[in-house]
Amino acid sequence: MFIGHYALGLAAKRLVPRTSLGTLFVAPQLADLLWPALLLTGWERVRIVPGPNPFLHLSFDAFPISHSLVTLCAWGATYALLYGWRTGYHRGAVVVALLVVSHWVLDVVTHVPDMPLYPGGPRVGLGLWRSVAGTVSVEVVMFVVGAGVYLGATRARDARGRYGIWGLLAVLVLCYAASLAAPPPPGIGGWRHRVRVAVRGVGGLGGPTPGAARAWPERGAARLLAPRRPRGARHHSGSWSSTSSTRSHSSAVL
Ligand SMILES: [Zn+2]
Repeated sequence: MFIGHYALGLAAKRLVPRTSLGTLFVAPQLADLLWPALLLTGWERVRIVPGPNPFLHLSFDAFPISHSLVTLCAWGATYALLYGWRTGYHRGAVVVALLVVSHWVLDVVTHVPDMPLYPGGPRVGLGLWRSVAGTVSVEVVMFVVGAGVYLGATRARDARGRYGIWGLLAVLVLCYAASLAAPPPPGIGGWRHRVRVAVRGVGGLGGPTPGAARAWPERGAARLLAPRRPRGARHHSGSWSSTSSTRSHSSAVL
């Protein structure tokens, strides 16, 4: 699953408006961000196989560290602890941990039975990837719903924010379409080369996620992520304040 993971990150914004979109994108994709590095070290293994469709061109022989349920719980707890320690936002930390573990749940739906419960343990998978139409339909619906929830929970502060989010969503959809159209890797040499590119690109394509999402739409002049104006709120010098409280909501964009 690809844009389905991002869909959860987008939707989570409603639950934790103070958590950056970059963090909400990294958490559900953490497993796939770890995976290339673990392939390079030889701790995880993959084979290229002549699969019947683009989703089945890789045989995931072993990825117990990045993709088992138990290790993802540990990764989620670690990420949440670091996030909570750095921000003090405990609600955000809980959601971040759940998002990390959500990767396993969604991958179980799509993968053939290769998702380990724990390193060396039984492997499960419902195999949605056997159907291209089914997989794409599920992911697109998830992505549209996730984007809708995100857009409903935030407001653009200027034109950059208003159009930037659409650019970000378009990039994700284009990356997804490109991954479907791309031919399978030519061989293990080529695949290792691609992995190196992927590792190097963690600040680039791997994602449009941590890098662009955090720095571009949110941290610049275009701060997209201010919560919507609450009912009965008045506008005070650049931030929304409740009539019943002087608490500023501007911190919610951090
Ligand atoms: Zn995965």
